[in-house]
Amino acid sequence: MLTLQEISQATGGYVVQWAQLYPVQHLLTDSRKLVNAATSVFFAIRGDFHDGHDYVASLYEQGVRQFVVEDLGAFAGVPEHKDANILLVTSGVKALQDVAAFHRSQYHLPVVGITGSNGKTIVKEWLSQLLSPTERVVKSPRSYNSQIGVPLSVWQINETHTIGVFEAGISEPGEMEKLARVIQPTIGIFTNLGSAHSGGFDSDQQKLEEKLLLFQDVSQLIYCSDQELVRHTIQHQHLPSFTWSLKGNAADVQVKIKSTSTHKTKIAYNYQDQEHSLTLPFTDDASLENALHCLTLLLYLGLQPEKLSTPFERLVPVAMRLERKEAINGCYVIDDTYNNDLAGLRIALDVLAQQARRGRKTLILSDLLEAGLDEKTLYQQVAYDVKAHGVDRVIGIGDVISRNQHLFPAGSEFYFGTDSFLGQLRPETFRQETILVKGARVFQFEKVVAALQQQVHGTVLEVNLDALVHNLNFYRSKVSAQTKIMVMVKAFAYGAGSYEIANLLQFHRVDYLAVAYTDEGVALREHGITLPIMVMNPSADSFLKMQQFNLEPEIYSPDLLHRFLDYFPENSPKTPRIHLKLDTGMHRLGFDATELADALEVLVQVPHVQVESVFSHLAGADEALYNDFSRQQIAAFTQMAQQVESTLGYHVTKHILNSAGIVRFGQEAAFDMVRLGIGLYGIESSGTEQEGLQTVGQLKTTISQVKRVTKGDTVGYSRKGVADTDKVIATIAIGYADGYDRRFGNGVGEVQVNGQRVPIIGNICMDMCMIDVTGVDVQAGEEVLVFGKELPLTELSIRIGTIPYELLTNVSTRVKRVFYNE
Ligand SMILES: *Cc1c(COP(=O)(O)O)cnc(C)c1O
Repeated sequence: MLTLQEISQATGGYVVQWAQLYPVQHLLTDSRKLVNAATSVFFAIRGDFHDGHDYVASLYEQGVRQFVVEDLGAFAGVPEHKDANILLVTSGVKALQDVAAFHRSQYHLPVVGITGSNGKTIVKEWLSQLLSPTERVVKSPRSYNSQIGVPLSVWQINETHTIGVFEAGISEPGEMEKLARVIQPTIGIFTNLGSAHSGGFDSDQQKLEEKLLLFQDVSQLIYCSDQELVRHTIQHQHLPSFTWSLKGNAADVQVKIKSTSTHKTKIAYNYQDQEHSLTLPFTDDASLENALHCLTLLLYLGLQPEKLSTPFERLVPVAMRLERKEAINGCYVIDDTYNNDLAGLRIALDVLAQQARRGRKTLILSDLLEAGLDEKTLYQQVAYDVKAHGVDRVIGIGDVISRNQHLFPAGSEFYFGTDSFLGQLRPETFRQETILVKGARVFQFEKVVAALQQQVHGTVLEVNLDALVHNLNFYRSKVSAQTKIMVMVKAFAYGAGSYEIANLLQFHRVDYLAVAYTDEGVALREHGITLPIMVMNPSADSFLKMQQFNLEPEIYSPDLLHRFLDYFPENSPKTPRIHLKLDTGMHRLGFDATELADALEVLVQVPHVQVESVFSHLAGADEALYNDFSRQQIAAFTQMAQQVESTLGYHVTKHILNSAGIVRFGQEAAFDMVRLGIGLYGIESSGTEQEGLQTVGQLKTTISQVKRVTKGDTVGYSRKGVADTDKVIATIAIGYADGYDRRFGNGVGEVQVNGQRVPIIGNICMDMCMIDVTGVDVQAGEEVLVFGKELPLTELSIRIGTIPYELLTNVSTRVKRVFYNE
C-alpha cells in the first residue's frame, strides 16, 4: 500500500494541501466505481467525452479525501475542503501510470507482457489457466489493456504473486512506450499483426514497430516465425527471441498438425531435438495459434513437455461475454461466466451496482479460484466487496465459501454444490430482483442460469452493449464537446429493449432521453431512470401523470398548449418543463410561424411555465439530394428559435439534428443538443459513414427440423414453395409473429446458417418458415442468423422495399432480448 506522499514522489506532482493522509488501496479513475472512500485516491482524468474534474465535488461529498487533479478549479464547487489531500499534476493519466510503474518496480517477479492485433486476452487467460497449478498468477482482468486499464491491472501485484501476465493494447503512436514503462515485462509474447484497426498508423510496419516497443527490455520474445514482416523486423531489432513455426521456418519449436477431428486437433512438436505430441480441444486456426504461443512460453520457462498434455487437453474457451436477461418472477439475471477470481468478481459487482433494477440484489457465487491470498483474507475481501456494492443476499456454492459463510450478510444461503442448490431451488423465493450469477467453470453455473431464466423459444435478439457505446461515441465525436445528446428510446428503444438501453445511456451520461408516449416514460422511471425524459406524443389526459413522474411534454400545437395550461393554471406547483416543437418543413407535428407568434404571446404571460427546449425535425437528412432543403429548414429554425428566446427573455435549448443530420450537419447546425436515434443501433442512415459504426443487434433463431423433399413437392402454405429439384430444407423457429416480415417469403429473404447464406422457400408462417439448405451441412438445433453483422439490415430492408427502422422495431416482444458486453 502506498501513501499519497509516495504518490507525490512517484508522479512529481505538486502538493497543494495535505491534511490527514490515508493508506491508498484503490486507484479510482471512474467516479461511478467508488466502493471505499477512505482508502481511495481519485485521479481526475480528462477523456474524449468526460472530464473527471466534473466529479470531484460529488466524490468529496461521498467521503473521498485524496485527489490527484490537473486543475484546482475542480474544487470550486466544494467551498469547505480543508480536510482534502490534493496533489496537482500536469496529466492525470500520466500520474496514474507513474504510480503503477513505481508499484511495479517494487516487485521482482517474472512478468509476461502480451501484445499483438488479436488473441491477447485469450493467450493471457490460457497462460493463467496453464500456470495456475504451480504459480500464483496476477493478470489483467478481462481486456484491461488500455492506458488506464494497464496501470489498474499492474496495481494488483502484491508480494504473494510469483508471476504476472498482462496485456497491452494501443491505437495510436506513442502509446506503447507508456504501457511498457508500467508493465516492465521480463518476457514478451507478440501474438500477430493483423490489418484491422490500423486507425492511427500510417503502415503495418509503423504499427509493428510501435508494438515492439513493449519488448525493448525483455529477456526473451516469443512469436511465430511464420509471419514474415514480424520475423524480419524482430531480427532486425536484435530482440532476443524464442519462436515457433508451423511451416518449417527456422524456429525453436517446430510444430506439425497430425490430425483434426470434430472437436480436437492433434499436434506433434519438436523441441531440443525431441518429438512430443499434444491434443488440443479445438480445431480453429485462431485457437491453435493462441495455444502455440502458450506452449512455447511454457517450454521457455522450462516446464517438462511430458507434464503439458493434460493441462492443454483441459484448456477451456474464454467466456468474455457478460449477459443480461429477463428471468422468472420479474427478475433480471446478469450472467458472468468469465473466470471467477477477485478482479473478475469486482468488475461483475460494478455491473450489478450499475445495472440493477429496483428491488434487492442477489449474488450467486461459487468458490473463487484466486491465487495469492489465503482463504480467510480472500473471503474477507469478497465479503467486503459484496457489502460495498450493496448486495442484499449471497447464495454461496462450494465447500470453501460455505466454510466462510459467517462473513456474509444475514439471510444468505450456502450449498456445497450446484446440484444440491438446484435440488432445493424454490423459484418463488426469487422476486423482482437483480441476480448476478458468477461461478468458476467447474461449478457449471449455466445450469443455474437455465433454471432462472424465462422459457425461451428458439429466437433471440442479441444486443451488443459495447457496440452501442462505440456508436454513441461516434456521434459524440461528430459534434462539439459542449453539445448535449438526447437519445430517442421510443418504440422499446428501436426494438432493442428500453430499460437496459436507458440504463446504459444513463451510465454513459447522455443528457436527455425521449420517448413517444407517457407510458413509455413511466416505465423508465419505474425502472430507476433519473435522466430528464421528453415525451413526444403526450395526450392531454396524461399531463398529471407526467407531472407525477417528472416527464416533460413536447407541445406541438396551439390546442395542446391550451390544454396544458388548463391542467397547470398559474401558480400550480411543479409545472413540468415543456419542449416546443416547430414545423419547418416536415409537416408532421409542430407550430408554424403564425401559430408560434400566438403561442409566444400566451407563454410570456405564464412565467410559471418554463420552455426547456425548442426544436424541429429534418425531413430529408437521409439524402444528400435534400441538403438544400435541410439547410432551408435549419435557417427557418434558427430564426424561429431566436424569436422564442427573445420573446421569453431566457436561454432555451435548441435542437434539430437526428442521426443522419448529425453526420451531415454536426459541425454547422448542432445548436445546443442533437437527437440520436437509429445511429445508436448501428445504422448510419445518411449512408456515408457506415464503417464508423458497429452492429448492435443480431437476430438469431434455430433449426427445428431438417427434411428431404423430392422434385415437384411443395413447401408450406398455399403450396408456394415448389421444389424444382430434390432438395434438403430446414424449418426454422421464426415467423411473422416474431416480426419476420412475410415479404421475405419465396426466395426474397435470406438467412445465414453454418457460414452460408440460404434462401427462404415458400411462404413465411406465423411462427416458422422454411429455408433451402441443399448442399449445406446443417442439423436440427443449429443456430441461424436472421439479421446481424453478416446480414445487414440495410440490405435486407431494400429487398422488401422498406427501411431498417421498420425491421428493427418489428422484432416482436415475444423474442427474448439478451444483452451482453464483450
Ligand atoms: C425518432 C426521432 C428522431 C431520431 O431519428 P433517427 O433518424 O432515428 O436518428 C429525432 N427526432 C425526432 C423528433 C424523432 O421522432
